[in-house]
Formats: sequence, C-alpha cells, structure tokens
Amino acid sequence: MIRRLLAAAIGVFAMTTAAEAAQPKWAIVVHGGAGVIERSDLTPEQDAAYRAAMSRVTKAGADVLERGGSALDAIEATIHMLEDDPLFNAGRGAVFTAEGRNELDAAIMDGATLKAGAVGGLTRTRHPISAARAVMNKSPHVFLIGSGADAFAATQGLEQVDPAYFFTERRWRSLGKALKAQGLPMPQRPAGAPLASDAAAALAHDEGKYGTVGVVALDASGRVAAGTSTGGTTGKRWGRVGDSPVIGAGTYANAACAVSATGTGEYFIRLTVAREICALVEYKGLSLQAAADQVIQKELTALGGDGGIIAVAPTGEMAWSFNTSGMYRARAAEGQALTVGIYKNDP
Ligand code: ASP
Repeated sequence: MIRRLLAAAIGVFAMTTAAEAAQPKWAIVVHGGAGVIERSDLTPEQDAAYRAAMSRVTKAGADVLERGGSALDAIEATIHMLEDDPLFNAGRGAVFTAEGRNELDAAIMDGATLKAGAVGGLTRTRHPISAARAVMNKSPHVFLIGSGADAFAATQGLEQVDPAYFFTERRWRSLGKALKAQGLPMPQRPAGAPLASDAAAALAHDEGKYGTVGVVALDASGRVAAGTSTGGTTGKRWGRVGDSPVIGAGTYANAACAVSATGTGEYFIRLTVAREICALVEYKGLSLQAAADQVIQKELTALGGDGGIIAVAPTGEMAWSFNTSGMYRARAAEGQALTVGIYKNDP
C-alpha cells in the first residue's frame, strides 16, 4: 500500500516537473541599457515611457518568433524600433562624442553557424544593426569601421541619413555636462541639428553614460542569436569603440547560449564577458543564470566595471544580471507573460 502511494506521489511529482520544465519554442530578452537608474530619479512619466517602449518592442520581436520567424529576424526588427526611439542610446538618440558627433556601433551573431557581423563608428546609416547583419551575410568580413562601413551599408541599399538625424537635445546637454566635468571645451552644435527636441526625447532619462540596446532570441528551430546597437559612451574620444560591436565582449552567440551586454565597454572587452558566460555554460555546465551572475556579479564587479547582460539558451532558459542600480529590460517566451523591469527590485 505504502509502495503504491509512494509510486503515485512520484508520478505526480514527475508530471509536475515535466510540465514546469516544458521548453518554450521561442524566447526573447531585450535590454535598453544599464546605469544609474533609481526609482527616485525617474518621473512617473519617464518610468511609464520606458516601460511602454520596452514592452512594445519586445512584443514586436515576440510576434516575429511566434509567426515562426528566425531569431535573427526578431533581433533586427526589435533593434530597428529601439534605434528609431530617441529614449535609447542607439540610432536616433545616441550619445555624442567629445567632438560633437554621433558614432554608432553594432553587432549581430548567429549561434548555430557562428556567423557574425559588426560595424563601428557609423555616422550615416540609420539602422546600424542592419549594417552589421549585411556585413555578416553579404561581405567576406566580420568587422567594418568608419566611412567604409557606411559606404558598404549604402551599397547594400540601407537607408543613409544626414548625421543631424541622430541629434537629440537631451544627449547634447549630457555631453555639455560630461565635458564640463572634465574641463574640456564644448564643440559647435552640429550643422542641421533641430532647434527644439521632440516630446519623446524630452522624456529620456540620463542614466549616466550608458543606454545601449540589445536583444537575444531563441527561435522555433532551436537557434539562438544575439544583437547589440549603441552610440557608445558620452564624450568618447579619439575614435573610441566599446564592447558592443566586439564579438565575444558585448555580443556573442554559439550553440549553447546568446548574450548581449551593456555597461563600461572597456571592462567588458577585457573580460570577454559575453563569450565567458557562454564558456561557463558550455564547459562548466553552469546554468545560464549562474554563469551570468558569476561573470557580472563577481568578475566584472571585482575588476571595478559596471553594467549588465541579457542571455538566452536553446533550452528556453532566459537570464539577466546587472550590478548597476537599474537596467531597462524585458522578456517574453511562448506560453509566458511578457515582463518588463527597470530597477533592481523589479521582478
Ligand atoms: N557598452 C557600451 C560601450 O561601452 C555602452 C553602453 O552599454 O551603453 O560602448
């Protein structure tokens, strides 16, 4: 009798765990940058604007995956929207260099094939993530920079814009503050910069230096991929490029996991953060969350770096980890509700 009861109990337990562990066919995680983002810093309007934007773009990416689209398609579609949204430091709304320019970096990587494309220092291509994807698919190279990268994007039919298109008043003011703090002169306002910022840009929160965007996704064919797009860090100089377009640092995907990062690029490059997380999953058998926490909470923190990552695995496991006070983030998966977070203690 006892044995039968025990067998029944084990049966129920096995059924529950199987149901709980049911792998979602698709999953998507999005970040909109990490930094000094305290609940007390954001007005209710800013809080609502960021939550609405994160939820809208994540839903759009989830729709691509739900319809059977590839992880790469979902990433490109989602990042397009973030690049067009002046709330985020990517595309329009990007931060300024010390010389008063917007220099844009992006990368994309396909975990199944290890194909990757990256661009650095674009000034004319409206959607840097599409330029990165074109480098991956249509060129023999992995990483293109500067005017050559813009020229290549143009030959691929990607929309070119006047550099003033990326200008926002908010980011211009942030540059003023950053340069003043370093005792550096303020450059001339860029030619063609609009005189008044639009209402959406006025809601943007100055999260310190960051605000990069990134997306990782798992599609119905079991492939994972990662993409990241950024204006880099406010007041960057001398052609500085951060981790976002550096494969293995700010962006990485292989058969075991996909990662996109945001934070002080210099530290992420030195720790090869994205690749390190995937290596811990692959070689040490850590769960995605444990691997992410090991690298962000321990290694990055010990080195004095700040920022965070999002990650996804072919099992449908999703993770995020950050050591800053906040990170704009959202996730969704087949059969799971979309969740959005900003501050540390958000769910
Ligand atoms: N990681 C980016 C960079 O260093 C900045 C960011 O995440 O906002 O260029």
